Parts: sequence; structure tokens; C-alpha cells
Amino acid sequence: MFKEMYENDSLTGLLSYSSFQKAVSFYTETDPKGMEEGKYAMLCFNILRFKVINDLFGSDGGDELLIYVANQIRRLGGENCLASRTHSDHFCLFIPLTDDSLPARLDTFTDTIENCAPDFEVICHVGIYVTNRSDVRTDGMIARALLACSFVKEAVDKRYTFYNTSMRTQLLQEQEIINNMAKALEEEHFKVYYQPQYNHITGQLVGAEALVRWLHPTRGLISPALFIPVLEKNNFIMKLDLYVFEKTCALLRRMLDEGVTPIPLSVNVSRLDILYPDLPEKMEKIRQKYQVPVKWLRVEITESAMLDGIEKLTLFIARMHALGFNIEMDDFGSGYSSLNMLKNLDLDTLKLDMRLLSDDGSDKNNGAVILTGLVRIAKWLGLPIIGEGVEHKEQADFLASIGCSYVQGFLYSRALPEEEFYSLIRSQKKGDIQPPMQLIENMNSAQFWNPMSIETLIFNNYVGGAAVMEYRAGRLDLVRINKKFIRELGETLTEEDVLRWQPFDHMDEENKQIFLDAANRAIQTDSEQECETWSRIPGQEHPICVRVSMRMIANSTDNVMFYILIRNITEKKKAQWDMARREKLFRAASEQVNIYYWEYDVKTKEMTPCFRCIRDLGLPPLLQNYPQSAIDHNVIPPEAAEKYRLLHRSIDAGLAQAEVVIPLTLERIPFRVRYTTEFDENGNPVRAYGSAVPAKE
Ligand code: C2E
Ligand code: MG
Ligand code: MG
Repeated sequence: MFKEMYENDSLTGLLSYSSFQKAVSFYTETDPKGMEEGKYAMLCFNILRFKVINDLFGSDGGDELLIYVANQIRRLGGENCLASRTHSDHFCLFIPLTDDSLPARLDTFTDTIENCAPDFEVICHVGIYVTNRSDVRTDGMIARALLACSFVKEAVDKRYTFYNTSMRTQLLQEQEIINNMAKALEEEHFKVYYQPQYNHITGQLVGAEALVRWLHPTRGLISPALFIPVLEKNNFIMKLDLYVFEKTCALLRRMLDEGVTPIPLSVNVSRLDILYPDLPEKMEKIRQKYQVPVKWLRVEITESAMLDGIEKLTLFIARMHALGFNIEMDDFGSGYSSLNMLKNLDLDTLKLDMRLLSDDGSDKNNGAVILTGLVRIAKWLGLPIIGEGVEHKEQADFLASIGCSYVQGFLYSRALPEEEFYSLIRSQKKGDIQPPMQLIENMNSAQFWNPMSIETLIFNNYVGGAAVMEYRAGRLDLVRINKKFIRELGETLTEEDVLRWQPFDHMDEENKQIFLDAANRAIQTDSEQECETWSRIPGQEHPICVRVSMRMIANSTDNVMFYILIRNITEKKKAQWDMARREKLFRAASEQVNIYYWEYDVKTKEMTPCFRCIRDLGLPPLLQNYPQSAIDHNVIPPEAAEKYRLLHRSIDAGLAQAEVVIPLTLERIPFRVRYTTEFDENGNPVRAYGSAVPAKE
């Protein structure tokens, strides 16, 4: 009905903004009751990253998209709608609400827009103000719809939000923050607190994080969680971050001046600061002003900084590194791109947030497993990890058990005001944060883990069973195994069975000690060590005996990595046992029939006597230069000596069987001495088995 009276936007054919205003005011004036009762809605639309679309597809492409969106908005609005393009890529729509189909129509609208281009995801956010008063003019309605639009979160599926009054309250609060922040900075209402970081194992203070608070003259202490996001929207954040950095430098200067040994202090740098290329130089200037050695300063960046492009972040880190600053990754693991980031960024420390562990009520809470994996990855990258937000001793113990001993959180301390923190520093025993896992000389972890490297090739195809094993806090974990390792343990096992196998859970104390002794020797001597231990394999009836050779390949303060080679020697052990058992039986039998027996080695002239020979005749376990040594021992009486020598010469010459009577034992009882000779494949005598029984005749 307005078509003839109003002007249109030449590109999209929608109403011009002034026409739109006029048309909407027609309703506000003619139907104030309907306005109060929520019979109308104002919608505002914002196409995200429209500039990029213009860049990529040119202004023709951009225009085409605007026309498309305008048509979809018209379809969404239906017959009696008023629609306008307010400026560039911003649209608004005023509609009567006749039923409750709007959310469903909005879902269709946003889906259609999202799928309109085959190679590019177009996202359009929508804010909706459902009228609730008659005195709000068009601008006021649009302002409310726009406010709602700014509350649509980027990461969430729903692309639209309905306005509510708390948004306005929040906006007013934000405005208050904006109005006051410059003054607050000038009048030093921002205070820097410091939250200490501890080594949970030694109890030593190893560092602290500078955290800002706003000490508002009337509202009291305001949390950074409230004002940092506002300052970030406002570009004021860099000023604040540099202020915190300066205060931190000043505190370190004070420590150095007063002879107090400092600890490294970390400062937070907002994702938006990184967009400013001169930030590193600005920080360096402040550091120099206070003459603080750079080793006492660290910079925390967040994963979200990746959202603005990895190039800027990489450049920032490189410049900070060139100036000597350490870079810590804050809230590691909370973002979606954590692992990708690790691959691409040159970091010095990771901060893992305990929120990863928080129970979200789901059955499948994999937080602890993920945390364990992250810690292990960090260790192999040689990155120390600090656990953040640690509130309970159990959490800290758990972290230490998976190899992360540095913690920050309420368990140890809240963030402290400067003076309190200063006294703490003065009184505390201090330690350092150590890089966790260091491969021994000549080993390169990148190569070691690279699937294409020669190291991996050798490992996988090694003739025997090989594994990489980690030992920490009384636990053994197999980190990597080759196929033959599994085969050595048992054909029925799968790789998962073996990797999950905890050898110590299936060993008795004695075997555990044998293993630990060998491991300790390997660490102390930095050489290969061996041991043989019995353990049980889940699902197998009998225990197995494994000979393990181990060599340390990496270590840190709290754990050690070994390269191990294994042989399953259960069968061999059983055979030895069998032999020993038979020997025992034979020994018992020999007592019963009063027999002595021994072995004579033709080549070496060595004689190995039986247990009874040792006991009754006082022989050592091995006699050399036999039979002369026996003659010298007076086991063979002088009168029989020549006969005995002759017997052995005959054996040496190849006599297969022999028998002589010699007086033996202290009592010189006549014994029948018999020999049976064993020959090699060439017919040469090798060994002769001797026995002596009393000659009864
Ligand atoms: P963040 O950098 O991850 O800092 C750790 C936050 O966890 C701090 O909150 C700290 O007080 C809190 N926290 C520490 N231990 C525990 C604990 O055991 N349990 C719980 N529930 N929380 C704990 P805070 O001080 O409120 O700071 C919040 C965030 O504000 C910081 O998170 C950081 O992202 C930002 N922030 C703080 N100060 C600054 C600053 O100077 N500049 C910038 N850009 N951001 C800052
Ligand atoms: Mg932080
Ligand atoms: Mg954090």
C-alpha cells in the first residue's frame, strides 16, 4: 500500500531508510495498543565478513549477494512487511506478528543464506525486537534489534537472538565502563594482583601470573571477566595491558633493588593487542625503562588469538622471542584448534585449564583422558605445562601423576594484592620451571616420532620386540610398541591390550624390585641394563618370564623414558627348571645308591664334580688340571695316582669306555670308577662322564 508513496534502494528495490522510518511510524501512531501487546517485530540483519566477500568476488559478486539477501528478507517478512537496506550490508525488517511461526521462519532464512554460495559460507546474524511499548520510535526499535544482533554468538548454531531488557542493562554497564576507564587508568584504580604458581611435588614457588582488578571507588572490586571484554570491544585493552606490564616490571625492579630474588611473572596479552605490530617494541621499551632482565618476564597469549590469523600470531611470537621473552599459551585445550596450534606455533609453556576436567554430567567424560594425552604431547615437545584453576588436592595429585607438577589455583593461593605477594616472595623457597622431557644426546624427538624416519623404520622392523616405555611415580606405561613386542608377550593379544597393560599391576613385589633395580642402574650408569622378571598377562593362564634390556632415552625431573627390548624366555626358564628338578632327583637317587659322578672335559682338563663329591670329598665346584689336581688334593691316594693318570690319558686318546678300581674317600674304600666318553662329529673325544660306586667284591 506504500509502494507509490516511498523511495526505494536502487540496488535491492527495498525501501530507502527514510521511507522505512516513515512507514514504520505509521504503525506506531495508528496502532499503539498493538505495539504494547507485542503484535509487531523489528528485525536487524548483519552479514558477517561482507568485506571479505567483496574482496573475493568483486563488487559485482557483493551486489549479487545483497540482492539475494534482500529477496530472502522479503520472503521471510511475507506480504505486509516493510524492509529496508539501512546501509551497505545492514538490513532491517518490520513485520506484524500474526502467529508464532517466526523462529521456524528464521531457521529457514538463516539456513538458506548459509547455503547460498557453493564455496563460501555466508553467515547472517539477526536480532529481533518484539514491540512491548508504544512510545519507542523506529530508531529505538532498530537500536534494540541491533543490540540483540550483537548478542548472537559466533560459535553457536542459532544465528538469531531476541532482545530482552537485561541486554540493555548490560549495555548500560558497558557504557559506564567505557565512560570511566580512561579516568580509572589515570587515577590508578586498576590494581595488579599476582597469583602464585607452585611445583606441587617440591612445594616450591616457581612463578606467578599478573591479573588485573578494577578497584572502583563506588562499586568495589570488579572482576576482569566483566570489563576485559568491554575494553576489547573498545580498543582500550592494549593501554590496560601495557599498564599491567609496566606495574609488573616495576615490581620486579623493586625486588631487584631490595635484594629479593624474583620469580618469573607472566602477563596476559589480549588477542587484540597482537593485531598491533608495534606491541613487542612497546613492551621492550618498558622493560628497558625498568632494567628488568627478560628472564623474569613471560607473556601469556590465548588460543583465540588464532582466530585473527596465524600469521600475525607467528610474527608476534617471533618478535617476542627475538627480544628474549618466553611465550605461554593460556587456556590450552579449551579452543577447537589446540593441536593445530601446537604444530604451528613456537611456544615455551602451556597452561592447561582444569575446566577441561569439569564434569558436564555426560556419561562420557573424557576430560581426564584428554588431559593425560595433552600432557604427554607437551612433554615430547619439551614444553613445561602449568595446570591452572587447581582447586583441590586431588586435582593437583592427578596432574602430578600424569607428569604436570606445576600448578596455579585456589588450592595454593588466590591472586594476591601486590604487598601481600611481595611478602610471600620474600619468605618463600623458590624453584624453577624445568623443561620436562629431554631426549639424550644425538636423539631428535621429531625424527623419533616421525612415521617416515629411519628411526621409525628400524623400530618397527627390529628383529625383536621393542618398545618405548615411560616410568613415572611408580607406574610403567608403554608408549609405543612394535609388532614383535606383542608377539613376544602372546599371540592372543591385541595392540590395545598391550598398550593398556600395566606391568607393575601384574608383578609380585620381588619381581617389581628386580625391574626397578635394573631401571635405576640404567639411569645411574646411562648404559644398557638387563633383568628377568615374571609377570602375568591378562587373559593368560600362566605367568611369563621376560628378559628386558633397557636404555634410558629421555628424562625429566619426574619421569624417565626407556627404550626396551624384550625376549620371552618362559620356555627356556621352564627347561632350566626341569633340568634342576631332574638334577635334584638324581642327587637324591645318588645318595640312595651311594654313587659319585662327575664330568671331565677332555680339552680343558676341567672336572665338574657332583654335589656329593663336593660334600664328602671336600672338592671345589670346578677342578682344573684334572686329574693331577685331584691327586694333589689327596683324593686319589699316591699309590693309585699313576693308574688314574693313565686312565685319563687313554680317554684323551679316544678310549670310549673304561673301568678301574681305586681306593677313595677318607677311609680309602675301593671304588669302581667307570668312564663313558662322548665324541664330536669328527670322532674326537670331547667329554667323559665319570662315576664311582663301592666295589663290593
Ligand atoms: P586467565 O588468564 O586464564 O587467568 C586465570 C583466571 O582463573 C583468573 O581469573 C584467576 O583468578 C582464575 N583462577 C585462578 N585459580 C582459580 C581456581 O582455583 N578456581 C577458579 N575457579 N578460578 C581460578 P580472573 O583474574 O578473574 O581473570 C579472568 C581472565 O581475565 C583471565 O583469565 C584473563 O584472560 C583475563 N585477564 C586478567 N587480567 C588481565 C590483563 O591484565 N590483561 C588481559 N588482556 N586479560 C586479563
Ligand atoms: Mg592468563
Ligand atoms: Mg587461563
